[in-house]
Amino acid sequence: MFRNMFTSGDNRELANATIDFYTHVQRDMKVDIGVDPIGYLWLMSERQLSTSSHHVDSMEENGVQVVRYGARDLGEMIPGLALNQAEKEESRLMNLEDVAGAYFGPKCGRLAPEKLARFYKERFLDLGGDLIFGADAKSLIVDATVPTGLEGEPFLWQDSRVAGVRLSDGGEIRAATTVVAAGAWTNELLDPTGIDGHAKSKMRQLFTVPAQSGSALARLLHTKGFNPSGTIPFLILPKGGVIVKPMSEQAEFWVGGEDEVNRQFLAYPEEDIDANYPPERAYYEMSIHPVLRAYLPDFAGAGPSRMWSGLYSYNTVDNLPYVFEGDGLVVVGGDSGSGVMKGDSLGRVVDAVYRNGEETEVELFGGATYRASKLGFRKRDVEREDWLL
Ligand SMILES: Cc1cc2nc3c(=O)[nH]c(=O)nc-3n(C[C@H](O)[C@H](O)[C@H](O)COP(=O)(O)OP(=O)(O)OC[C@H]3O[C@@H](n4cnc5c(N)ncnc54)[C@H](O)[C@@H]3O)c2cc1C
Repeated sequence: MFRNMFTSGDNRELANATIDFYTHVQRDMKVDIGVDPIGYLWLMSERQLSTSSHHVDSMEENGVQVVRYGARDLGEMIPGLALNQAEKEESRLMNLEDVAGAYFGPKCGRLAPEKLARFYKERFLDLGGDLIFGADAKSLIVDATVPTGLEGEPFLWQDSRVAGVRLSDGGEIRAATTVVAAGAWTNELLDPTGIDGHAKSKMRQLFTVPAQSGSALARLLHTKGFNPSGTIPFLILPKGGVIVKPMSEQAEFWVGGEDEVNRQFLAYPEEDIDANYPPERAYYEMSIHPVLRAYLPDFAGAGPSRMWSGLYSYNTVDNLPYVFEGDGLVVVGGDSGSGVMKGDSLGRVVDAVYRNGEETEVELFGGATYRASKLGFRKRDVEREDWLL
């Protein structure tokens, strides 16, 4: 998914330019990367609409298009949405509030990340890049800038720099600059060298719910009036960050929820996600489904046909990505669950830092400029993100 609806102005800038680039790839370069602006529909209670209104005002002041819907509009456009919760016992138990309206972002949507990755891979190869798959970088090589040959260097009195990576098969890759973009596994490479990545990981899960043709869920899936595709937008329900993603071509929904409370941070996650962080059916049944069926009763009785998990890499201070440099090193990460939608801008920041260091203005796609040092740690200057999904 991609969105330009963030509370942080930095996130908005990085995502907006990235969405423009992805749209340009799809529309002007005619490379199919699955861009489909189905929109994000943030369903909210009266209280949430009011506490969010200053964020939404700030979005609009900065050029983000937002459409406001009232409860009556939503009731007409989405017949399967249960606006009223107060009289339902289960809803009262969960402290669910009535839906009073929604903020809709028409520039938000979905894309196909594997097609996007293929696009970048091909452009990288066109530029003369070389790729090695299946190579496991075990550690960073730190060399003395002027080696003496003495065992144990670099010593305190020597200048040192990252000179590449040691591979787990015993090989080495040496480079003038090494870029670490290892997602949730970044600490494993940085920590042993005494460099802090300021990020921790957490498991996140997604569950697939089929919407068989002719069923009430299929009707919900093909809700018209919001976007050119004639599907229900990406929904954010008013409780628990429960999200509902339509996958019309596969006749299914993907659902998930925020998983913050009592979910451990992982400093050094295992490599094999499937084996070590398997998705939990009970999490769907006991945490997500009660909220889902309360607001969208067509989901009552609907269980997941597939489920999987992944790892979010959180910058636990401000929920914004970072890009910083060291001697011979550039690090990018901490995207806090929304890295694909900022991927093009972050790539441009990494490129600029690689060429000119952190004290540089980066030209994002579309011509806007962004100071690279804002995403570093020495002169970090970003607005914290409060709308995590
Ligand atoms: C369930 C889930 C849903 C998400 N949904 C969205 C979404 O809708 N939109 C969005 O924008 N973002 C989403 N994200 C976040 C998005 O996936 C990340 O922000 C993005 O993948 C980060 O990209 P990256 O290249 O920094 O890291 P990664 O995609 O994690 O890539 C890092 C790569 O480095 C490799 N690697 C790590 N260590 C080593 C090593 N030592 N040697 C060799 N290779 C190594 C890993 O195998 C991996 O392939 C989601 C994440 C999850 C888990």
